[in-house]
Amino acid sequence: MPGLVPEIAVYRFGEPGQGPKIYIQGGLHADEGPGSLVAHHLVSLLSVLRPEAFLGEIVIVPVANPIGLGQRLLGSTIGRFSFEDGRNFNRHYPDLAAAAVAALGDQLTSSGAENRRTIQRNLRELARAIQPSDAVQRLKAELLALAIDADFVLDLHCDTEAEMHFYTLPALLGPLMPLFQRMGAVAVLTADASGDHPFDEAVSVPWMAIRQAFPQWPVPQGGVATTVELRGQGDTGPEFHEADALAVLDFLRFKGFLAGAIPDLPAPTCNPTPLDACALIPAPASGLLAWLRPLGAHLTQGEPLACIIDPVTRAETIVPAETSGRLFARTNTRQVAVGQRLGKIAGSVPLRAGILLGP
Ligand SMILES: [Zn+2]
Repeated sequence: MPGLVPEIAVYRFGEPGQGPKIYIQGGLHADEGPGSLVAHHLVSLLSVLRPEAFLGEIVIVPVANPIGLGQRLLGSTIGRFSFEDGRNFNRHYPDLAAAAVAALGDQLTSSGAENRRTIQRNLRELARAIQPSDAVQRLKAELLALAIDADFVLDLHCDTEAEMHFYTLPALLGPLMPLFQRMGAVAVLTADASGDHPFDEAVSVPWMAIRQAFPQWPVPQGGVATTVELRGQGDTGPEFHEADALAVLDFLRFKGFLAGAIPDLPAPTCNPTPLDACALIPAPASGLLAWLRPLGAHLTQGEPLACIIDPVTRAETIVPAETSGRLFARTNTRQVAVGQRLGKIAGSVPLRAGILLGP
């Protein structure tokens, strides 16, 4: 609108083109504060390092969604869905995979380093050529253009009430494992396509499509992206975001973005599980939600995990665990409607197909 121009503040460290590139953003869902706080604290930590400490390029966007942050309603920020059309800010990103494969054509060679630069240049050009149709599409295109040529991408989110968990593609588990270990992941949920093309997949999928389309040439593993779920929306104290920023800093050392001793990694705290095996626990009734089991509980299928109470009819409905596994996320509302998703259990037996993420 006239006079109203959202800005994305970008913090850059290291030399572009020198060494690997990592892109880190927080607040894509604008009502999720922990990611912006971790990004903010990371900027503080990096700002005091000497230039020679940077062995790669680090790009940080602490507030990725100024449009969503401006969506205030009756004292609350509505930062997950656009007021314009109700769409989730982390869905329906442009898919550049086919265009990237077509554009690369016969440009690749036997040099992996050269191919990396060629792929990065082509992906940047494709992202910059996106013609957005409205302000939200423009925001998505800008963020994708900042991230698409990165070797690693961390998209910092949080759930409502939750423990530390991650989403990524199965093929990217290896390079991301140090991050999961250092940050203390209790769940890592993997899918080749989670549905509706969120930001991390919009970065990862073109790189994977290029590797598959040109098996005769060395194609480096770029676009290693993960959605980091930094516990719950209320977990904004320094004991969380300062510790998480230090953990990301160690990951940067581990992956050669920063000079210095490579830190020891703690042992893995979970085994990755398929996203299609993650139970979303639909409410079987409407009423007041009383949790019977805490976050982190290890549930057995069928075990009561919550009760929904209707004080009008006096009905009490037990909510059973849909699968066996760890209860790693719970809704923070206590007045629930039938069908509403109440939480997440990291199970190991496939339960669902199609669109695997919640709305
Ligand atoms: Zn989010």
